[in-house]
Amino acid sequence: MKKILLVLVVAVAMGCGDTKKEENPQIQIGTQEDGQTSSTETADEAVATVTIDGNDQMKYNKNEIRVKTGQKVKLTLNHVGKMEKTVMGHNWVLLTQDADVAAVGLAAATASETDYIPASMKDKIIVHTKMLGGGETDIIEFDAPAPGTYTFMCTFPGHYALMQGKFIVE
Ligand code: ZN
Repeated sequence: MKKILLVLVVAVAMGCGDTKKEENPQIQIGTQEDGQTSSTETADEAVATVTIDGNDQMKYNKNEIRVKTGQKVKLTLNHVGKMEKTVMGHNWVLLTQDADVAAVGLAAATASETDYIPASMKDKIIVHTKMLGGGETDIIEFDAPAPGTYTFMCTFPGHYALMQGKFIVE
């Protein structure tokens, strides 16, 4: 039902103020219907959409994120504060299960030239966003790793003590 309504709305919308009434609605119905079916059916199952905020109080708004095995994860990090990246930078870094959070945090503290992503810990980092300042956003997409519990953290110097949480793949 939704699909039919949608196509009708599109057809009506295309019809309004469009001089090529006869061509466009036909093209629209054919492609729109097929595309819509496959993308909506797979979107819910295949993609986990996650949003997490970091603020000027050095906190994330989530300490746990859950996704399912086999999902693609689309993660949005928002820095909802006002402070600059050099003072209150936030990123979102997902660690491997065998990573030592404190060791990564320590190595990151001296890696300012690489946005606090330490080269020596590359094999402990699955994926990471950019380092953000107040008002900035970064979006990353990655495949959920194998089932298990992982740690995510902010690698800005001194932040991981407060800014870390669990990333659980079910
Ligand atoms: Zn931070």
